[in-house]
Amino acid sequence: MILGGLVLEFKLKQRRVIAEIVDAGNCRYYEKGRRFVLSGFTPSGLCDGAYTVLSRDSQTMRYGAKLPWARNGVVLTRCPDPEGALWQLKIEEGLDSEQGGQQEKEAAKSCSELGDVYEHKVCRGMKGGCPFSLVGGSALSEDIKQAVKDSAWVGTAVKQESTDLRHYCRFKVALAACPNACTQPQIKDIGIIAICVPSEIGADCDGCGRCEEVCREEAIAVRDGIAELLPEKCVGCGVCLRECPQEAIESDPVRFRILVGGTMGRHPRWGQELCVVDSSRVVQVVKSFLDKTAQQARPGERMTSVVERIGAGTLREEFSL
Ligand code: SF4
Ligand code: SF4
Ligand code: SF4
Repeated sequence: MILGGLVLEFKLKQRRVIAEIVDAGNCRYYEKGRRFVLSGFTPSGLCDGAYTVLSRDSQTMRYGAKLPWARNGVVLTRCPDPEGALWQLKIEEGLDSEQGGQQEKEAAKSCSELGDVYEHKVCRGMKGGCPFSLVGGSALSEDIKQAVKDSAWVGTAVKQESTDLRHYCRFKVALAACPNACTQPQIKDIGIIAICVPSEIGADCDGCGRCEEVCREEAIAVRDGIAELLPEKCVGCGVCLRECPQEAIESDPVRFRILVGGTMGRHPRWGQELCVVDSSRVVQVVKSFLDKTAQQARPGERMTSVVERIGAGTLREEFSL
């Protein structure tokens, strides 16, 4: 900057805030002395409750403003839980603005590259390594992964090099190749479960009872020498189909339950069933759902809150196929 012949060089300081526990209280996760560096991105491993109380003051401190409740540059704040941890926030001076900007860009980049933005879990059955698996091959999984990355919901966060990234961090998708659901699709933002539901007992049934024996849901029973389906109890595991020696049980093709809005953490919620579709529609439904909800989401809102606010019933009507 040139002023009256003087060349003045300003170097804005990029500050980082060190958060450290000085009294762990009844905290279930951390001990005294546990430290996190707050530099504009939610640090990996920091719980939501702690981040909520730390982020406001740390952001203010990072940009150099003074907080009336700071004492000698130190802010003390406590987690919202009863007798939660007591944290100390302190500025760590150091990097100039250029280095700091680069650091944020690197953090954003690594966030997406290392999968911090998007977690995609696939059960081993999808890879053909489980006897319960109803589907195989990696094509469907790869197509879903790409659709999620391209969607307005996740794709924007992956491309963004801003602090908005944290609102979308760890968007979780899980695929399970049978209703045993080993990847816990019920507690993910998007959960996909393969099902195979018996539709009819054919004339070849000789009433041997094998199906009744293997069904853990009591959803099929032999009566008067022939098997009878109890669809309200059936979860679509397909075990009876495989076990019937007469191949007398007919079924619909493998389909996929799509669950949305599940989460763990402070306010756990089960994913709500959006729809059941055949394999040719899964990718399209997931992409379309993410694009639409991204438009309806409020800044920083998580998928679980969007689903709760709009209502699973309304979403189901929109996506009933
Ligand atoms: S979800 Fe089903 S197919 Fe996948 S690993 Fe578990 S039992 Fe096997
Ligand atoms: S296992 Fe097959 S043949 Fe035996 S009772 Fe069941 S449907 Fe009938
Ligand atoms: S598909 Fe599974 S739950 Fe349904 S009737 Fe067959 S064994 Fe029972």
